[in-house]
Amino acid sequence: MKVGNKPCTISRVSLIFWHLDNYIPLPENHEKLDCAHNPIQCHDRRCCNPEHLSWKTASDNAKDKILDGTLKLPDIKGSKHCGSKLNEDQVRDIKKQLEENEKICILAKKYGVNSGTIYDIRNGKTWKHI
Ligand SMILES: [Zn+2]
Repeated sequence: MKVGNKPCTISRVSLIFWHLDNYIPLPENHEKLDCAHNPIQCHDRRCCNPEHLSWKTASDNAKDKILDGTLKLPDIKGSKHCGSKLNEDQVRDIKKQLEENEKICILAKKYGVNSGTIYDIRNGKTWKHI
């Protein structure tokens, strides 16, 4: 389903309802933001699970698409999988900082990864061996 140039209209509505249901205010500029489906969590582009959705700027959304492999660029071949952007030393540092209660969004920014990647490290979904 497409309305105008914005795909994902159903997920946009679903995310707005999620905000209302949870009494979480919508971001002020949400009309200018993309309703983005988080990469890694699942790869169904039609998915409307509000837990998988977030407000993103068009450029952040494009980065997610690269991460998710939806948008393919020649230089990211083989690096679309979760955690592959990081090396073991970085993950060790991240884990240490998580123990020190560093914020996930700050770590994500610092290491240039999606916050989902940091969540997965914290929850032991990825990089369990470190
Ligand atoms: Zn999903």
